[in-house]
Amino acid sequence: MSLRFLGIRRTLATYVASSAAPKLQDVVIIGGGPAGLSMLTALKNNQKTKHLKCTLIEASDLGKIHGFYDNPGEEYTNRVVSLTPKSIDFMQSKIGNWEFIKHDRIKFYDRIVAYDAQDSDNARVDFNASATETGALAAMAENINIQSSLLKKLEVLNDTESTTILDKTKVEEIINPNQQNIEETHDLNEIDLNAGNANLDWPILKLSNGESIQTRLLIGADGYNSPARKFARIESRGWQYNTFGVVATIKLEYEDYRSIGWQRFLSTGPLAILPLTEDNATIVWSSTPELSQILLKTNKEIFPHLVNAAMVLDEVDLQYLYKLLDYNPDDFTVLDEIKWRLDKFDQQKLEENYPLKVTEVLDGSRARFPLKLSHADTYISPRVALIGDAAHTIHPLAGQGLNMGQSDVAFLMAALESGIERGLDIGSTLVLDSYVANAWPSNHMLLGICDKLHKVFSTDYYPIVALRGLGLRSINLLDSVKDVMVKIISSR
Ligand SMILES: Cc1cc2nc3c(=O)[nH]c(=O)nc-3n(C[C@H](O)[C@H](O)[C@H](O)COP(=O)(O)OP(=O)(O)OC[C@H]3O[C@@H](n4cnc5c(N)ncnc54)[C@H](O)[C@@H]3O)c2cc1C
Repeated sequence: MSLRFLGIRRTLATYVASSAAPKLQDVVIIGGGPAGLSMLTALKNNQKTKHLKCTLIEASDLGKIHGFYDNPGEEYTNRVVSLTPKSIDFMQSKIGNWEFIKHDRIKFYDRIVAYDAQDSDNARVDFNASATETGALAAMAENINIQSSLLKKLEVLNDTESTTILDKTKVEEIINPNQQNIEETHDLNEIDLNAGNANLDWPILKLSNGESIQTRLLIGADGYNSPARKFARIESRGWQYNTFGVVATIKLEYEDYRSIGWQRFLSTGPLAILPLTEDNATIVWSSTPELSQILLKTNKEIFPHLVNAAMVLDEVDLQYLYKLLDYNPDDFTVLDEIKWRLDKFDQQKLEENYPLKVTEVLDGSRARFPLKLSHADTYISPRVALIGDAAHTIHPLAGQGLNMGQSDVAFLMAALESGIERGLDIGSTLVLDSYVANAWPSNHMLLGICDKLHKVFSTDYYPIVALRGLGLRSINLLDSVKDVMVKIISSR
């Protein structure tokens, strides 16, 4: 699909007649994920940048995502993110897609309760939104809801002259025309020599549909394995956590009017239950590779009980349950094992201080994603800028990955606007420098904080367990400290 539904056709004033010559663009974005689509829509919704000739290239089919706007389906999809008030404000005031979000599929929440499984009293910290201007800590939204609202906004902007989206099209190769061996490896006819050599350093992209595009600025929104980053020879540093995030869409016993996000720190990684509308909720269960396999294969009638157990029971009990289920994922005796253990708790306390009971997991909603930390040394090189997961990936325990991508888009837009105002070439590092100067340090700080949190909470080394229990209790008593933490998180 070349997004005919957007009414967008390839109509480029700069298109060079020769069939071998690449099409020329001001901006090419690789990646139609949340970051890439946000970037394209932000460019097209801005008076100073909307004239730029832009192409977005996405390997997968965007048709289903676009279809979500008219037919969202009854059940929640399993890729759900927590959006900060700052990201929502950016979508409302700058990108303009928030009006096309399916609001009946957005759940605002105003409290987060985080507690420690290895502390005998489940030491906890309870954040609430009183310190925020919006009165909400964050909003849960499906990735598909966000992406579809961006496509809808582009459709409404109806910029048939200078917007092209090519989905089901892969960027197969990116060539630097300045490469010394260009004559050996590529036909020089492919470079637009009519352009007076002005574009001789513009990257050329070879696409799976046989087309070539040459661009003034290449934006890599192409995820963790970013071909754009590799082309620009930008190093990305980090590590795999040897941990998977298991996600699932679940039903609670009834709608929880408390609007709380819950997170329990287990030695295998944090387990979060985050509210969706009505009786729906989503989980992200960070797990060892072995545990993630067990969680995926456990019988769907047993799985909800296992989640309930994991939010309350001691680790030693949980290890025993995992062992039984590893041996036999359909072992229904596990239900009795869980029941008599949970029955020992004061039921009223359970209801007041813990999440509501999970009663169902939606068919096909369980999936796992490898978790890793990565950060590119820089986000720019001449004619290239990286945004979103192409620039950084983060542990999901603080729900910041997609939000960091929004913040990248905001900073890159500011740099491009300012470059255009000053009459500069938007692909030059003179323009792009301010993007990396503004975006990189705060992303680096957040990556570091989440990494330390993950490490501190996934150890069972007694001195650290004792210290963090003390830390959680102290923070919980200090409203001013909690307010500062909430403000920092929600203003990202
Ligand atoms: C379990 C889990 C929970 C999470 N929870 C949260 C949360 O609560 N809050 C939050 O903010 N973030 C969260 N995140 C992170 C968030 O999902 C990601 O940061 C975000 O989706 C990344 O978006 P992106 O557009 O940068 O990259 P991607 O979504 O990876 O998009 C990259 C796109 O580039 C395309 N592409 C790549 N190579 C090519 C090529 N050669 N040619 C054409 N196209 C190409 C791909 O097809 C893909 O569509 C979570 C992540 C996980 C794993």
